Amino acid sequence: MHQYKRSSELFDQAQKYIPGGVNSPVRAFKSVGGTPVFIKKAKGSILTDEDDNEYIDYISSWGPMILGHAHPTVIKAIKDKVEDSTSFGAPTELEIDIAKLIVDMVPNIDKVRMVNSGTEACMSAIRVARGYTGRNKFIKFEGCYHGHSDSFLIKAGSGASTFGEPNSPGVTPGTANDTLTAKYNDIENVKQVVADNKGEIAAIIIEAIAGNMGCVLPKKGFLEELRQICDEEGILLIFDEVMSGFRLAKGGAQEYFGVKADLVTFGKVIGGGMPVGAYAGPDEIMKVVSPVGPVYQAGTLSGNPIAMIAGYTLLSELNENPQHFTELADKCEYLHKGLDKVLADSGFAYRINRCGSMISVFFTDVDVVDFDTAATANNELFPKFFHEMLKRGIYLPPSSFESYFLSNSLTYEMLDKTIQAAKESLEAMK
Ligand code: PLP
Repeated sequence: MHQYKRSSELFDQAQKYIPGGVNSPVRAFKSVGGTPVFIKKAKGSILTDEDDNEYIDYISSWGPMILGHAHPTVIKAIKDKVEDSTSFGAPTELEIDIAKLIVDMVPNIDKVRMVNSGTEACMSAIRVARGYTGRNKFIKFEGCYHGHSDSFLIKAGSGASTFGEPNSPGVTPGTANDTLTAKYNDIENVKQVVADNKGEIAAIIIEAIAGNMGCVLPKKGFLEELRQICDEEGILLIFDEVMSGFRLAKGGAQEYFGVKADLVTFGKVIGGGMPVGAYAGPDEIMKVVSPVGPVYQAGTLSGNPIAMIAGYTLLSELNENPQHFTELADKCEYLHKGLDKVLADSGFAYRINRCGSMISVFFTDVDVVDFDTAATANNELFPKFFHEMLKRGIYLPPSSFESYFLSNSLTYEMLDKTIQAAKESLEAMK
């Protein structure tokens, strides 16, 4: 069993200098309790913490380490590039290479604009949609996360067709008024919100596979119906592919579900783990973006050469070896079957949702199809399971509202070890 002495000391120190000791809240283990594990290094699917404990990683840096940590080709490319300086604030050929690669891999896009995070990508896409349509409001879904920009930090009112209210101090009611919320997988609710705000909605933004309420799949036909509503009402459909992009398939959720989006947003993975995001769309829409059009959006470090070479190398590897996607899906299915068996034997109520290489275990007796049903699994069993698994060297997301992200560096032996750890953990939880 693992000891966390050094992590504990570091967490004490960190709290003196960093709010809550972390630079992004979920890392603080707030919803599972205990001391966050401080990571020293990682290779493939193995994380090593500051106490030299090792873990099989199911976070993959929240997605981007799709081929494992410290992938040799990516690391070599970064090392070679870094000799040429770390930033110019001027265009580079590499930016063309990666934009062309993304346009080749992803359907329905002609132009890509690089930014520095998923948050920036989503907030910029909303600005573009507003600039393009001349409308102010947009719809997001309860339980979908699109970054921490003001207009996304909105919860639904009691009726989902009412205006949202900010759920973070610092977000003004004025901002919140332009964010409408709807229920994921509830097309009638979407229709109602659209009808109540006819002619005023610029965009509907969605995680086509939700990963921020645990892994939640769109019901059959839901995305198609959203597409139809958008076409009928002159609304832009934005797929937030920060998690699903280059993970579900080469072309992300658009390819996987066969549904066209008007704009797509990307994050993390296109920087191979470096801080990157991007938004992309057809010429017809992207022509409004500055300096061609009037919608201003900029970034000193956007298109940073080290991030670009890391992303380009990783995406090229995925592009040239599409078997990664099927191998990942096969591994995830194997894990699913194994967890299903041990959970069924345990007697605990549970549901498992899976799509491609994203999977979540929910401790609940209801099908998880939206945020309300996902919330039923945010109970005392989840933190217990998390810590029992951690003790056994399995690093799961420290929140019941997060999906696991598999990496193709996972071996079947590691998956077996994970299933065995789950069996023992569930036993220990009784
Ligand atoms: N969109 C989705 C679907 C995300 O999961 C995230 C972050 O996890 C974001 C946007 C925001 O990305 P970032 O944390 O890079 O700002």
